[in-house]
Amino acid sequence: MLIIGQGLAGSVLADTCIARGLRTAVLDVPKEGRASHVAAGLVNPVSMRRTVLSWRAPELLPIAGAFYREAGLRFGKEYWHPIPLIKIFPSAKEAGEWRVRMNDPEVSHYLSDEQSQDPGLKRVDQPYGHGQVKRAAWLDVVGLLDAYRKWWKEQGALHERTVEQADVRSIPNGVEVHGLSAPWLVWSAGPFKPMTGLVPVRGERITVRLPGLDLGVLVHRGGFILPLGGDNYRVGSTYDWDNVWSGPTTEAREELLARLRKLLLRTPLEPDEDTPFNVVDHWAGVRPTAIDRRPLLGRIAPHQAVFNGLGSRGVLLAPWCAQHLLEHLLEGKPLDPEVDLGRFA
Ligand SMILES: Cc1cc2nc3c(=O)[nH]c(=O)nc-3n(C[C@H](O)[C@H](O)[C@H](O)COP(=O)(O)OP(=O)(O)OC[C@H]3O[C@@H](n4cnc5c(N)ncnc54)[C@H](O)[C@@H]3O)c2cc1C
Repeated sequence: MLIIGQGLAGSVLADTCIARGLRTAVLDVPKEGRASHVAAGLVNPVSMRRTVLSWRAPELLPIAGAFYREAGLRFGKEYWHPIPLIKIFPSAKEAGEWRVRMNDPEVSHYLSDEQSQDPGLKRVDQPYGHGQVKRAAWLDVVGLLDAYRKWWKEQGALHERTVEQADVRSIPNGVEVHGLSAPWLVWSAGPFKPMTGLVPVRGERITVRLPGLDLGVLVHRGGFILPLGGDNYRVGSTYDWDNVWSGPTTEAREELLARLRKLLLRTPLEPDEDTPFNVVDHWAGVRPTAIDRRPLLGRIAPHQAVFNGLGSRGVLLAPWCAQHLLEHLLEGKPLDPEVDLGRFA
């Protein structure tokens, strides 16, 4: 198998191929704006806007958890971190709606109105209280992708080469590119491979140092605050459909800091409203999102396929998608019409 791109899609696909015993090579050149190196890595089985299950969460979540835990065992490091997700209610109405949703058998398994005793929540403004999403997690995406890269480089399976469509040559029973050949080549090039149905969406997130906050849970209100350890917190994310390749912007940074300011209560000893936060880093990336928010999988030419469209939920989707695509390419199983890129043909 030849795989173009070593973001989350290409990495998970390559690992799944290797686990099946396939000879696999990955070709990747890190490009400005790649999504995976910016992702917060959050996995949330519940869509926060409407408090409904996110697409196929009960099926995808155990597959994702098992995949990333196993990868962690291989590298001797945990990348998959289960964490309670605290949804701060912006109004009494939303708090009431949450309790109604808790009685819906479809989603009730994932919701609770138990009030978390996490010490950091004392500093969070929550006049209407909070609810909890159970079975949420976050993946250290960069840590895992770096571990894969190092491993495959050592094995001679990672080639730092750009691949253009014109570089791909048909050979009997397969394709050849830059001297490498295989029966299949899969494009996992994320937002860099324009295709019908794919919309690039810029996202930005920052890391802020908040000494003394002592927050151990993931907090969501509009955006999220994720504790990273050592007084560092990831704050995100923004969505922008214009100027997607602009890189980090002042507007997005201010938007994220304003959210943070609104969420955190100040103690009398702390700096006033105008004192700047200590921003440790600020990144922008481009999400490869399909118009209908579903993955884009399938063949594009003889011996060539695409694994794309992971959108804003790549961590949850990637392991199932990789399995599904391989079963299609190697065993001839039909693609699920909801993920088949042919739906945009
Ligand atoms: C701000 C932000 C926050 C996010 N938060 C989350 C989150 O909390 N949870 C979640 O699940 N998802 C999140 N996402 C979405 C997630 O990042 C994506 O779903 C996922 O990373 C997409 O991975 P990919 O491999 O398809 O694309 P990419 O990560 O962009 O990878 C593509 C790779 O291919 C390489 N490449 C491209 N073209 C070529 C070529 N021609 N030759 C060689 N190499 C090439 C690129 O350099 C890159 O390395 C977030 C995204 C953003 C931007």
